[in-house]
Amino acid sequence: METFLEKAAAHIFQKHSIHQLSNICIVIPSRRGVLYFKQALANQAEAPFLAPDVMAIDDFVMNVTGLKQIDPVALLFELYDVFKTIDPLVVFERFMTWAPTLLNDFDKIDQYLVEPKKLFSFMSEAKALERWQMQLGESQRDRLKSTERTDRYFKLFENIHEVYNLLQARLREKGLVYRGMAYRELAEHVGTYLLDSPQHKKYYFVGFNALSNAEEKIIRSLLKRKEGNDFFAETLWDSDAYYLSNKDQKAGNWLRDYRTGNNMPDQLPLFNNEWNWVSDELLKGRKNVQIIGVANASMQAKVAGKIYADWNQQIEGQTQTAIVLGDENLLVPVMNSLGKDVANLNITMGLSLKNSMLFTLIDAMFEMQRNLVEFKNAEGETKRIPKFSYRQVVRILNHPFVRRYEAMHYPLVEELIENESLQNPIRQTLRDITVHNKVFLSSKELKEMGQDDRLFNIVFNHWEQKPKKAVEQFYALIDLLREVYRERQDAVENEYLYQFYLLLQRMEMILAERGESVSIKSFKTFLYELIKQTKIPFESETDQRLQIMGMLETRTLDFERLIILSVNEGVLPQGKRQNTLIPYEALSDPQFNLPTHNHADAVMAYHFFRLSQRAKEVVLVHVLPSDTYGAAEKSRFILQIEHELRHLNPNLNITQNQVNFETEITAEEEESGLKIEKTPDMLAMIEQEINERGIYPSHINQFVDCSMQYYFNKVAGIAPEEEVAEKLASDSFGNWIHKTFENIDTAFLKGDDLIEKTDGIIQQSDLEFVLKNIDSYLKKAFEQTNPGLRMTEGENYILYQVGETLVKKFLKFQIANEAFPIELLDAEKTLKVGLEVEVNGRTIPFKLAGRIDRIDRIHGDRIHGRTVRVIDYKTGLVKPEDLKVKTDLIDEVLLEEPDKGKLRQLWLYKYMILKRMMTQYGLSIRGTRLKADENKVVSGIYSFRNIEAGLLEQDFKFSDDETIEEFMISSEKYLAKFLEKLLNPEIPFSRTEDRDICTYCDFKRICGR
Ligand code: SF4
Repeated sequence: METFLEKAAAHIFQKHSIHQLSNICIVIPSRRGVLYFKQALANQAEAPFLAPDVMAIDDFVMNVTGLKQIDPVALLFELYDVFKTIDPLVVFERFMTWAPTLLNDFDKIDQYLVEPKKLFSFMSEAKALERWQMQLGESQRDRLKSTERTDRYFKLFENIHEVYNLLQARLREKGLVYRGMAYRELAEHVGTYLLDSPQHKKYYFVGFNALSNAEEKIIRSLLKRKEGNDFFAETLWDSDAYYLSNKDQKAGNWLRDYRTGNNMPDQLPLFNNEWNWVSDELLKGRKNVQIIGVANASMQAKVAGKIYADWNQQIEGQTQTAIVLGDENLLVPVMNSLGKDVANLNITMGLSLKNSMLFTLIDAMFEMQRNLVEFKNAEGETKRIPKFSYRQVVRILNHPFVRRYEAMHYPLVEELIENESLQNPIRQTLRDITVHNKVFLSSKELKEMGQDDRLFNIVFNHWEQKPKKAVEQFYALIDLLREVYRERQDAVENEYLYQFYLLLQRMEMILAERGESVSIKSFKTFLYELIKQTKIPFESETDQRLQIMGMLETRTLDFERLIILSVNEGVLPQGKRQNTLIPYEALSDPQFNLPTHNHADAVMAYHFFRLSQRAKEVVLVHVLPSDTYGAAEKSRFILQIEHELRHLNPNLNITQNQVNFETEITAEEEESGLKIEKTPDMLAMIEQEINERGIYPSHINQFVDCSMQYYFNKVAGIAPEEEVAEKLASDSFGNWIHKTFENIDTAFLKGDDLIEKTDGIIQQSDLEFVLKNIDSYLKKAFEQTNPGLRMTEGENYILYQVGETLVKKFLKFQIANEAFPIELLDAEKTLKVGLEVEVNGRTIPFKLAGRIDRIDRIHGDRIHGRTVRVIDYKTGLVKPEDLKVKTDLIDEVLLEEPDKGKLRQLWLYKYMILKRMMTQYGLSIRGTRLKADENKVVSGIYSFRNIEAGLLEQDFKFSDDETIEEFMISSEKYLAKFLEKLLNPEIPFSRTEDRDICTYCDFKRICGR
């Protein structure tokens, strides 16, 4: 395959003798193209020769004008200084939000040779109109009042021309320019700089498209000049008949005009003699195009790595491959996906420090410094003390950089994570935060937890709003991490650290030069802007077999094999996103003719189809649309290939694939449901577990809901992750209410600060007393169940009020409706009953267990007489029908219906109490002996969302005239049935078909649902 640049090099080489070459200048759109061109030209000659000047257009302009380009950061400050002369109240942080965009606009205005006065007055008129609309009508005025902020916004547009002029004057005074200024300077004085005293005998402009007005003017001026029969300049274009000949193809928008002269000044085309060149590769070339849809963005990297590995196995030699990244965030995943043996690669793109892992650590540190905790002191004054939020502390301690530090300083990290008894300060701190629900931590506390670890001493210091402290801390952190990366010899990470170090130095220098005191907020804004602009320059050889690059870097280059990632709308092409302060009406107005998003789409179309034209193997990877990942549709470029190009080019072989790596479950598995067979070891373990620890109603419910969930929890022993809560979650809310009643009941049994020991006999007046003092019970229980959680603010405050209302309402209901006295027997009691059942001819011993909220007895109840009540509190809504089942449906429902979990719980509580009562010694609770023939037993729920319903009792019978004995025998029959199923090796653990159950499942991520 002959590449475009090889063709251009051969063309130029043939047109000039070897001695003339040093007198010519070749201008190429990008620096990368320059490297490739030089290589191609060198390959033309057998003997050494004096090379021509080959330059990227930016370098050409600076070189010819002799101007000095200002550093972008210094430019921002120049603009800031200019702004301050016009608006002394300008706030730096706010200025930084739009200043880079404004500078970008100035650059564009100059590159497109727009008359600034015209454009800026158009803009301020447009904004005046906007302002006038704001002031329309009474109702509008109410909604959109003119504020200081809006006034300043409009003032910006009024002053924009003045700012532009002042900035230009200020820079000129210092002998500096920004890029656009240099282009305008050259275009407006091309005679002086180029034509009157040219440095070269001939100029070639190679591989351009979508020229700015300045570029076009410069090239046109050179093209017009002729010496004898020789033109002073020549243009070499890379075009294909597919988009050049069809006016509907946006990719050829500019090249068509350059070729025909349409829409050009004086209708003059942009070439001399003949148009070089038009290929017909897209319409006739033999190509394989694979279109691959993947489920998420990062999976694209894996696909790229896999395809490249496959190609490498199939094809020998030096065929060059390019992986083109539509989204530069994929660079690191792609590098990781290539495997260690791919050493022959070159990365031609700057990886922004903003997208690095290091930036996430810096960001977490800034975030951590933002928290101040407010509290009221004894005098009622609001005090603010700096404390770090656990979120950022955890984010920092789990950061990959810190993990590597940990691995180096505390070997055997994996084992430490597994084994809680062996902890290092980092693991220990993370654990303490979770276990003790520490939401806010002070610097002192964290350093103590760090046990003198260097990392803790560096990272968990307060900056006290002083940028100097932040810089010092970052330097110390760099030193610390450098040691880690030196050890690991990780070039990319080292480079990140080095770039960040340079940036801090630059930052210190600029701040010192300006001699102003800067707030931490301004410091952050500025640092982040610098970070955004800092790219890790990956630049190296052109002859590596694999090139990884962004789409812009592919200009003028060709590759036989191509993998393009993120071929989605919104990325390739980018769509309507445009970063400018200039309104669309102004951009698209013919008198200005500035690039709009349509322009950007057409440029991208050219890059895409030009890059594809010579390639033989093209893989286009796109992310499938999904709500989860927010990806857009596949790109219009893919649709164009699928629906248009395939009919025009008979040699195009298109294949389509979808790849799904994420869930490791195959399609058949998904269909039949993931299953886990019960091995003999597993069964032995389950038997041991239910015999020693017992089986609780919640376990049975879990198994009925989804046996896979039971497997994850009870067999694989995977504990749901513990989390630190800032907000009162529904389970914490429930725990709090439960604890409140546990404390009250315990007070009745044992006494406390408020209640004297009553021996469990509760009168109406006792509950009235509790109601009066309920605040202290609620507060105490809240602190016990949610340590570190603040109940006085935000959502927690509202939930606290809700809880308080519910508890009071429940107490009032009890006071009004209970049959006093109540004999409280126990609270939060764990009950276990040893049983044996026959399963497949074997006797299986096991324990049925339950933790019961309250057991009491009432004596004068008109319905039940002397009744032992087994009570469960539920903070959620329970309705009587949840606890009912018709006798003839018991078989189908009792062990099968997930919805009947509460009914199962009450059934088993009742069974356990009766079973214990019926043993030889009866059930003895706190010295009271309870016999089945002397007490009726009911089990029921108090639902705090249905207080008026009173105690909701379990309401089913195994037969219409069920006796206690029958209840016991039938219950045991169903328990045996359950165990038969649980221990049946023929029935594997499987995923539930009811996906609603998965919604709140702790194992959702593991299970692949
Ligand atoms: S996610 Fe669904 S299928 Fe998987 S274990 Fe949980 S409940 Fe069962």
